[in-house]
Amino acid sequence: MPELTTLLDQLIETTPPADDPSGRTTFDALHTLRLMRNIVDHQIVLHTTQLEGLGVAQKAGSTTKKLLIEMGHAPAAAHRTMRIVDALPTLPTVDRHGADGRLSTEIVDAIVRGMNHIEKRCSRALSEDERTSREIELTGQALSGATPAQVLEHARTIGHTLADATDTDIPAADDAGLNTVNAHTTDDGRVAIRADLTQVTGEKFLSMIDDRACPRPEPDGADDRRSAEQRRADALELILDQAALGASIDSVGSPRTQLVVTIPAVGDPATLPWTGTVSQATTKQVACDGSLTEIILDGEGVPLQMGQTRRLFPAHLRKAVIVRDRCCIKCGAPPSHTQVHHIAHWADGGTTDLDNGCLLCQRCHTQVHHHGWGIVMGFDRHPWLVPPATIDPQRRPLPAYNRRTMRLDSAA
Ligand SMILES: [Zn+2]
Ligand SMILES: [Zn+2]
Repeated sequence: MPELTTLLDQLIETTPPADDPSGRTTFDALHTLRLMRNIVDHQIVLHTTQLEGLGVAQKAGSTTKKLLIEMGHAPAAAHRTMRIVDALPTLPTVDRHGADGRLSTEIVDAIVRGMNHIEKRCSRALSEDERTSREIELTGQALSGATPAQVLEHARTIGHTLADATDTDIPAADDAGLNTVNAHTTDDGRVAIRADLTQVTGEKFLSMIDDRACPRPEPDGADDRRSAEQRRADALELILDQAALGASIDSVGSPRTQLVVTIPAVGDPATLPWTGTVSQATTKQVACDGSLTEIILDGEGVPLQMGQTRRLFPAHLRKAVIVRDRCCIKCGAPPSHTQVHHIAHWADGGTTDLDNGCLLCQRCHTQVHHHGWGIVMGFDRHPWLVPPATIDPQRRPLPAYNRRTMRLDSAA
């Protein structure tokens, strides 16, 4: 396609104007570039539709989506393109405004998802007229400047109205068919989770979170420094650990989720299967209570050894630590919420014995490994907490939780 290639060359040579003190020219150029991008995205959909119609990928035993990814389209973009390809023949208004560049591919996709949602919510098939009027309604909203999220929200409202109109429908709140859970890794290497659940599933979630998210006083007597959001996140981790252990957790059971970390032979960072590279501090924390299986690779990428749960505190030692500490030594969380922390990490020569272990809940364990809280074994053979300098500049040791409360009791 010589014309397209020439256009592309011209575009690549385009640079922001050197002399534009008011920014007007640059602003106008940006506006034009946005329209061009929208038009190009629309063309990608049209060309993909053609490819799909010709069955090019199918003849090679593949799918058009896979073909797009192989060509270099990002997987999420390819997924979105295919969703639009499937829906566009039934959405002429969207098609028209996509073609003239007025609708971005993100907003087109929101309308497509909105229309899919409306159809799913309605037990009978939408009539041609209904479909057209809903399409025009959503497109009008998009053209008047609504964001993709607002368009989807509006589609959900329409869906509710349609579902309420026919009593044979399952109410949206009870419709498990609408349930979704999505997770993606963010640019920071964190994981963002989004869930849309039936009322009952949501209720289970909220009550389990609430049970585990109550504030606990800090070792220095201050109120819990975590925000409500942070407490809920800690509660979620606890639920995951407890689920990994099975339904019943006895008083000495340790909630542990088995993670597998792959350690390359030289240089490269360790990786986790779902979320990619992982920091050394995190690896140390996960390794600390034995919930880590390490797979060490040789130069050819072949596993050398499976260092299964190295230096794990065996049950009898864990019991002894529980007898001494009674609960998380920092916040007082019950033993079933705790892990045994190596005071001196085993990688640094720490031993696996009573004098080198102490009980910490997941949240406090993180505070110790990542946020400057220290632990020392006292001459009384009880663990003592050393606050970070940001909390106590003199870093005076504080007794473990059970000893603190004991002193309060005796002082009263
Ligand atoms: Zn704790
Ligand atoms: Zn630890």
